[in-house]
Amino acid sequence: MTSASRLLKWYDRHGRALPWRRTRDPYRILVSEIMLQQTQVERVKNFYKGWLKLFPTWKRLARATNEDVIRAWAGLGYNRRALILRDIAREVVTRGVPTTETGWFTLKGIGPYTAAAISAFAQKRRTLPIDTNIRRVLGRLLLGKPFPTMMYDKLIRRAAESFLPKHGRHYDIPQAVFDLATSICTKTPQCAICPLRDDCKAAKLFLNGSTKTPKRTTKKTNERHHRDKPFPDRIYRGRILRLVREWGQVRNREFGPLIDPTFDQKLDQMWINAMVDRLVNDGLLSRKRNKITLPTS
Ligand code: SF4
Repeated sequence: MTSASRLLKWYDRHGRALPWRRTRDPYRILVSEIMLQQTQVERVKNFYKGWLKLFPTWKRLARATNEDVIRAWAGLGYNRRALILRDIAREVVTRGVPTTETGWFTLKGIGPYTAAAISAFAQKRRTLPIDTNIRRVLGRLLLGKPFPTMMYDKLIRRAAESFLPKHGRHYDIPQAVFDLATSICTKTPQCAICPLRDDCKAAKLFLNGSTKTPKRTTKKTNERHHRDKPFPDRIYRGRILRLVREWGQVRNREFGPLIDPTFDQKLDQMWINAMVDRLVNDGLLSRKRNKITLPTS
Protein backbone atom coordinates (compact mmCIF):
# COMPACT_ATOMS: atom_id res chain seq x y z
CA MET A 1 0.00 0.00 0.00
CA THR A 2 1.37 3.47 -0.88
CA SER A 3 1.54 6.22 1.72
CA ALA A 4 -1.18 8.10 -0.19
CA SER A 5 -3.52 5.09 0.06
CA ARG A 6 -2.74 4.74 3.77
CA LEU A 7 -3.55 8.41 4.26
CA LEU A 8 -6.83 8.16 2.34
CA LYS A 9 -7.83 5.08 4.30
CA TRP A 10 -7.23 7.00 7.52
CA TYR A 11 -9.11 10.01 6.12
CA ASP A 12 -12.15 7.88 5.28
CA ARG A 13 -12.38 6.84 8.92
CA HIS A 14 -11.24 9.96 10.73
CA GLY A 15 -11.69 12.89 8.33
CA ARG A 16 -13.92 15.79 9.40
CA ALA A 17 -17.38 15.94 7.83
CA LEU A 18 -17.32 19.59 6.74
CA PRO A 19 -20.19 21.01 4.67
CA TRP A 20 -17.92 22.23 1.84
CA ARG A 21 -16.52 18.72 1.45
CA ARG A 22 -19.92 17.45 0.34
CA THR A 23 -19.87 19.46 -2.85
CA ARG A 24 -17.82 19.90 -6.02
CA ASP A 25 -19.50 23.21 -6.84
CA PRO A 26 -16.66 25.73 -7.45
CA TYR A 27 -18.82 28.56 -6.08
CA ARG A 28 -19.42 26.84 -2.75
CA ILE A 29 -15.81 25.78 -2.49
CA LEU A 30 -14.60 29.31 -3.18
CA VAL A 31 -16.95 30.67 -0.49
CA SER A 32 -15.49 28.24 2.04
CA GLU A 33 -11.89 28.99 1.02
CA ILE A 34 -12.34 32.75 1.34
CA MET A 35 -14.11 32.37 4.69
CA LEU A 36 -11.41 30.02 5.98
CA GLN A 37 -8.74 32.63 5.33
CA GLN A 38 -8.09 33.95 8.84
CA THR A 39 -11.18 32.36 10.43
CA GLN A 40 -11.43 29.08 12.36
CA VAL A 41 -13.25 26.11 10.81
CA GLU A 42 -15.91 25.91 13.54
CA ARG A 43 -16.86 29.56 13.11
CA VAL A 44 -16.94 29.29 9.34
CA LYS A 45 -19.39 26.36 9.42
CA ASN A 46 -22.35 28.50 10.56
CA PHE A 47 -21.54 31.51 8.42
CA TYR A 48 -21.09 29.30 5.37
CA LYS A 49 -24.63 27.95 5.59
CA GLY A 50 -26.15 31.38 6.19
CA TRP A 51 -24.23 32.91 3.29
CA LEU A 52 -25.36 30.20 0.88
CA LYS A 53 -28.97 30.75 1.89
CA LEU A 54 -28.67 34.42 0.97
CA PHE A 55 -26.38 33.98 -2.03
CA PRO A 56 -26.73 30.44 -3.38
CA THR A 57 -25.16 31.07 -6.80
CA TRP A 58 -22.56 33.18 -8.61
CA LYS A 59 -25.39 35.14 -10.21
CA ARG A 60 -27.20 35.89 -6.98
CA LEU A 61 -23.99 37.08 -5.34
CA ALA A 62 -22.98 39.11 -8.38
CA ARG A 63 -26.23 41.08 -8.04
CA ALA A 64 -25.62 41.86 -4.35
CA THR A 65 -24.76 45.42 -3.32
CA ASN A 66 -21.86 46.34 -1.02
CA GLU A 67 -24.39 46.83 1.76
CA ASP A 68 -25.92 43.37 1.21
CA VAL A 69 -22.60 41.56 1.47
CA ILE A 70 -21.23 43.67 4.33
CA ARG A 71 -24.36 42.92 6.34
CA ALA A 72 -24.21 39.21 5.52
CA TRP A 73 -20.53 39.06 6.52
CA ALA A 74 -21.21 40.61 9.96
CA GLY A 75 -19.28 38.79 12.66
CA LEU A 76 -16.75 37.02 10.44
CA GLY A 77 -14.17 39.84 10.46
CA TYR A 78 -11.78 40.97 7.74
CA ASN A 79 -14.77 42.45 5.92
CA ARG A 80 -12.87 43.20 2.71
CA ARG A 81 -13.25 39.49 1.96
CA ALA A 82 -17.00 39.96 1.43
CA LEU A 83 -16.43 42.54 -1.30
CA ILE A 84 -13.63 40.47 -2.86
CA LEU A 85 -15.91 37.43 -3.03
CA ARG A 86 -18.73 39.47 -4.60
CA ASP A 87 -16.32 41.01 -7.14
CA ILE A 88 -15.04 37.55 -8.09
CA ALA A 89 -18.66 36.45 -8.61
CA ARG A 90 -19.22 39.44 -10.93
CA GLU A 91 -16.16 38.51 -12.94
CA VAL A 92 -17.18 34.86 -13.16
CA VAL A 93 -20.67 35.81 -14.32
CA THR A 94 -19.12 37.96 -17.08
CA ARG A 95 -16.24 35.69 -18.13
CA GLY A 96 -17.51 32.24 -17.22
CA VAL A 97 -16.26 29.76 -14.61
CA PRO A 98 -12.51 29.14 -15.04
CA THR A 99 -11.59 25.56 -15.83
CA THR A 100 -7.88 25.65 -15.02
CA GLU A 101 -5.76 26.59 -12.03
CA THR A 102 -4.20 29.42 -14.08
CA GLY A 103 -7.69 30.60 -15.00
CA TRP A 104 -8.64 30.87 -11.32
CA PHE A 105 -5.39 32.61 -10.52
CA THR A 106 -6.12 35.36 -13.05
CA LEU A 107 -9.19 36.43 -11.05
CA LYS A 108 -8.45 39.41 -8.82
CA GLY A 109 -8.56 38.31 -5.20
CA ILE A 110 -7.52 34.70 -5.81
CA GLY A 111 -3.97 33.78 -4.84
CA PRO A 112 -1.95 30.68 -5.76
CA TYR A 113 -3.17 28.70 -2.74
CA THR A 114 -6.88 29.34 -3.44
CA ALA A 115 -6.47 28.70 -7.18
CA ALA A 116 -4.91 25.30 -6.44
CA ALA A 117 -7.52 24.50 -3.77
CA ILE A 118 -10.52 25.15 -6.08
CA SER A 119 -8.85 23.26 -8.92
CA ALA A 120 -8.28 20.24 -6.68
CA PHE A 121 -11.52 20.20 -4.69
CA ALA A 122 -14.02 21.38 -7.29
CA GLN A 123 -12.42 20.25 -10.53
CA LYS A 124 -10.44 17.23 -9.35
CA ARG A 125 -7.15 18.55 -10.72
CA ARG A 126 -3.94 16.91 -9.58
CA THR A 127 -2.41 19.86 -7.80
CA LEU A 128 -1.23 20.76 -4.33
CA PRO A 129 -2.40 23.85 -2.43
CA ILE A 130 0.41 24.50 0.05
CA ASP A 131 -0.48 26.22 3.30
CA THR A 132 1.08 25.97 6.78
CA ASN A 133 -0.60 22.62 7.47
CA ILE A 134 0.33 20.95 4.20
CA ARG A 135 3.86 22.35 4.48
CA ARG A 136 4.31 20.92 7.96
CA VAL A 137 3.05 17.41 7.16
CA LEU A 138 4.62 16.97 3.73
CA GLY A 139 7.86 18.69 4.74
CA ARG A 140 8.17 16.10 7.50
CA LEU A 141 6.89 13.12 5.55
CA LEU A 142 8.68 13.68 2.25
CA LEU A 143 11.74 15.77 3.17
CA GLY A 144 12.39 14.77 6.79
CA LYS A 145 12.34 18.42 7.92
CA PRO A 146 10.74 18.56 11.39
CA PHE A 147 9.74 22.23 11.10
CA PRO A 148 9.76 23.15 7.41
CA THR A 149 9.50 26.80 6.39
CA MET A 150 8.24 28.38 3.17
CA MET A 151 11.68 28.05 1.60
CA TYR A 152 10.97 24.30 1.27
CA ASP A 153 7.75 24.75 -0.75
CA LYS A 154 9.44 24.10 -4.11
CA LEU A 155 11.07 20.93 -2.79
CA ILE A 156 7.79 19.80 -1.24
CA ARG A 157 5.99 20.35 -4.54
CA ARG A 158 8.66 18.35 -6.37
CA ALA A 159 8.60 15.51 -3.87
CA ALA A 160 4.79 15.47 -3.91
CA GLU A 161 4.87 14.58 -7.62
CA SER A 162 5.46 10.94 -6.74
CA PHE A 163 3.36 11.10 -3.55
CA LEU A 164 0.13 12.30 -5.19
CA PRO A 165 -1.57 9.37 -6.93
CA LYS A 166 -1.64 9.70 -10.74
CA HIS A 167 -5.21 8.41 -10.85
CA GLY A 168 -7.99 7.98 -8.31
CA ARG A 169 -8.50 10.33 -5.42
CA HIS A 170 -5.49 12.66 -5.68
CA TYR A 171 -7.96 15.54 -5.17
CA ASP A 172 -8.79 14.26 -1.66
CA ILE A 173 -5.16 14.19 -0.54
CA PRO A 174 -4.93 17.87 0.49
CA GLN A 175 -8.07 17.58 2.67
CA ALA A 176 -6.71 14.40 4.24
CA VAL A 177 -3.40 16.16 4.95
CA PHE A 178 -5.25 19.10 6.57
CA ASP A 179 -7.00 16.73 8.95
CA LEU A 180 -3.81 14.86 9.78
CA ALA A 181 -2.12 18.21 10.39
CA THR A 182 -4.76 19.38 12.85
CA SER A 183 -5.20 16.10 14.73
CA ILE A 184 -1.93 14.09 14.67
CA CYS A 185 0.87 15.87 12.83
CA THR A 186 0.54 18.97 14.96
CA LYS A 187 3.47 21.11 16.09
CA THR A 188 4.35 18.36 18.57
CA PRO A 189 3.31 15.37 16.49
CA GLN A 190 1.94 12.07 17.76
CA CYS A 191 3.98 9.90 15.43
CA ALA A 192 3.22 6.72 17.41
CA ILE A 193 -0.40 6.78 16.21
CA CYS A 194 0.21 8.26 12.75
CA PRO A 195 -0.89 6.22 9.72
CA LEU A 196 2.19 7.50 7.84
CA ARG A 197 4.71 6.62 10.54
CA ASP A 198 6.46 3.89 8.51
CA ASP A 199 6.90 6.15 5.47
CA CYS A 200 7.73 9.39 7.21
CA LYS A 201 11.28 10.71 6.96
CA ALA A 202 10.93 12.73 10.15
CA ALA A 203 9.16 10.13 12.32
CA LYS A 204 12.35 8.74 13.84
CA LEU A 205 13.55 12.17 14.86
CA PHE A 206 10.38 12.71 16.85
CA LEU A 207 10.04 9.17 18.16
CA ASN A 208 13.60 8.98 19.52
CA GLY A 209 13.26 12.41 21.06
CA SER A 210 16.15 13.95 19.12
CA THR A 211 13.98 16.81 17.89
CA LYS A 212 12.84 19.47 20.26
CA THR A 213 9.73 21.47 19.51
CA PRO A 214 10.81 25.09 19.17
CA LYS A 215 9.46 27.40 21.83
CA ARG A 216 6.51 29.45 20.78
CA THR A 217 7.79 32.66 19.34
CA THR A 218 5.64 35.75 19.36
CA LYS A 219 4.83 36.44 15.77
CA LYS A 220 5.71 39.91 14.64
CA THR A 221 2.76 41.42 12.88
CA ASN A 222 2.60 44.46 10.65
CA GLU A 223 -0.65 45.50 12.27
CA ARG A 224 -0.87 49.15 13.08
CA HIS A 225 -1.43 50.27 16.67
CA HIS A 226 -2.38 53.83 17.63
CA ARG A 227 -0.33 55.18 20.58
CA ASP A 228 -1.03 53.02 23.67
CA LYS A 229 -4.30 51.46 22.48
CA PRO A 230 -4.62 47.82 23.61
CA PHE A 231 -5.77 46.53 20.19
CA PRO A 232 -4.56 46.94 16.64
CA ASP A 233 -6.47 49.34 14.36
CA ARG A 234 -8.16 46.35 12.72
CA ILE A 235 -10.27 45.84 15.86
CA TYR A 236 -11.38 49.48 16.00
CA ARG A 237 -12.20 49.47 12.28
CA GLY A 238 -14.39 46.42 12.94
CA ARG A 239 -16.14 48.34 15.73
CA ILE A 240 -16.73 51.33 13.45
CA LEU A 241 -18.26 49.10 10.82
CA ARG A 242 -20.42 47.29 13.35
CA LEU A 243 -21.73 50.58 14.70
CA VAL A 244 -22.73 51.77 11.24
CA ARG A 245 -24.37 48.42 10.51
CA GLU A 246 -26.43 48.71 13.68
CA TRP A 247 -27.25 52.43 13.63
CA GLY A 248 -27.61 52.93 9.90
CA GLN A 249 -25.77 56.26 9.97
CA VAL A 250 -23.19 57.82 12.27
CA ARG A 251 -21.42 61.19 12.30
CA ASN A 252 -17.63 61.16 12.28
CA ARG A 253 -17.32 62.80 15.68
CA GLU A 254 -19.71 60.29 17.29
CA PHE A 255 -17.49 57.26 16.70
CA GLY A 256 -14.72 57.95 19.25
CA PRO A 257 -16.38 57.34 22.65
CA LEU A 258 -18.59 54.61 21.17
CA ILE A 259 -15.78 52.42 19.87
CA ASP A 260 -13.07 53.22 22.41
CA PRO A 261 -13.68 53.78 26.14
CA THR A 262 -10.30 55.57 26.45
CA PHE A 263 -11.06 57.94 23.58
CA ASP A 264 -9.44 61.35 23.90
CA GLN A 265 -10.79 63.95 21.49
CA LYS A 266 -7.46 65.77 21.15
CA LEU A 267 -5.25 62.73 20.72
CA ASP A 268 -7.56 60.35 18.90
CA GLN A 269 -9.95 62.21 16.59
CA MET A 270 -7.50 62.26 13.66
CA TRP A 271 -6.86 58.56 14.13
CA ILE A 272 -10.62 57.85 13.97
CA ASN A 273 -10.96 60.03 10.87
CA ALA A 274 -8.15 58.14 9.15
CA MET A 275 -9.76 54.78 9.91
CA VAL A 276 -13.12 55.96 8.59
CA ASP A 277 -11.39 57.29 5.45
CA ARG A 278 -9.76 53.92 4.91
CA LEU A 279 -13.08 52.08 5.27
CA VAL A 280 -14.63 54.50 2.78
CA ASN A 281 -11.72 53.96 0.34
CA ASP A 282 -12.06 50.19 0.72
CA GLY A 283 -15.73 50.42 -0.28
CA LEU A 284 -16.92 49.24 3.13
CA LEU A 285 -18.46 52.58 4.15
CA SER A 286 -19.93 55.54 2.37
CA ARG A 287 -19.84 59.24 3.24
CA LYS A 288 -22.73 61.55 2.53
CA ARG A 289 -21.93 65.04 3.72
CA ASN A 290 -21.18 64.57 7.38
CA LYS A 291 -22.83 61.18 7.76
CA ILE A 292 -21.26 57.75 7.44
CA THR A 293 -23.46 54.94 6.14
CA LEU A 294 -23.06 51.54 4.51
CA PRO A 295 -22.45 51.80 0.77
CA THR A 296 -25.43 50.98 -1.38
CA SER A 297 -23.83 50.26 -4.78
S1 SF4 B 1 4.94 10.24 11.42
FE1 SF4 B 1 4.95 12.00 12.76
S2 SF4 B 1 6.00 13.60 11.66
FE2 SF4 B 1 5.52 12.01 10.20
S3 SF4 B 1 3.59 12.67 9.29
FE3 SF4 B 1 3.09 11.32 10.99
S4 SF4 B 1 2.81 12.63 12.77
FE4 SF4 B 1 3.86 13.82 11.17
